[in-house]
Amino acid sequence: MSHAEKLILDGNAVAAGIKEQLEARIARLAERGITPCLATILVGGDPSSATYVRMKGNACKRLGISSIRVELPASTTTEELIAAIRKLNDDKSVHGILLQHPVPHGIDERAAFEAIAIEKDVDGVTTLGFAQNAFGFADYPSCTPAAIMAILAHYKLPIRGRHAVVIGRSPILGKPVSAMLLNADATVTTCHSRTEDLASIVRLADIVVAAVGKPKFVQGDWIKPGAVVLDAGYNPGNVGDVDYEACMANASAITPVPAGVGPVTIATLLKHTVDAAEKFGG
Ligand code: NAP
Repeated sequence: MSHAEKLILDGNAVAAGIKEQLEARIARLAERGITPCLATILVGGDPSSATYVRMKGNACKRLGISSIRVELPASTTTEELIAAIRKLNDDKSVHGILLQHPVPHGIDERAAFEAIAIEKDVDGVTTLGFAQNAFGFADYPSCTPAAIMAILAHYKLPIRGRHAVVIGRSPILGKPVSAMLLNADATVTTCHSRTEDLASIVRLADIVVAAVGKPKFVQGDWIKPGAVVLDAGYNPGNVGDVDYEACMANASAITPVPAGVGPVTIATLLKHTVDAAEKFGG
């Protein structure tokens, strides 16, 4: 297969489609006197996290969604963070709350996630949100997994009956996307750092989802000819978790990094915030 025959899964195009649909909905909310509002919480000074939060805020602004940025020092305690989240829970003008992951080591991230009110859990990070997603009826599934599903849907790539191999089992990415693929009738194998002979398992995949957090981790000769490759990775220097050029040689379709899963994740977050404003906006 030549490069020309490859389908490059264009995240910017998928994101543009999602955002276009939001414009009319945001205008209708404005007629009701409601401006959707996303609150982002950044704890500590991690530069990548600060960039992600800034990108999310800018994306809100461009679409007429308001955003509140809560920035807390790395010395913040779990109790202080939970208090900040509860304040946002009680603020009727806030429709979605996003706690940027990861938080500094001294903080109990799980306890902080659990403090987010379910109706404002626009990134599906609470146990209830996670469970609803696993059952297939979440209002707001985690944004990156939902973005991966949106890309597959946009390009009408078949899932039913296909073998999907997910590399990574984090609660915000690997596990929820595994559940979503399973709910869409894929046969799913979820791999992790203790998986033996990962390459052989990936070679069986019709759909590969890379969610590892290691640059260029997935090798070209792991990819079955014709497989679809979705790279959720986002490492310093705009590098994905997939060796893009090498994997493209065998894949039939592949997401680039940047301009793949990332922009669709942000568009999904905006969509969930608008969903929440429509549901609970007053
Ligand atoms: P994470 O919490 O660090 O999880 C990484 C997963 O990869 C873990 O389940 C880990 O296994 C597994 N893993 C690590 N080394 C492995 C190996 N050698 N073989 C197989 N599996 C291995 O990361 P995350 O938050 O899920 O994020 C994953 C990637 O997605 C990162 O690059 C991150 O930047 C990116 N990301 C992108 C977006 C976006 O919008 N595009 C959003 C979120 C995250 P164990 O469970 O055994 O430790």
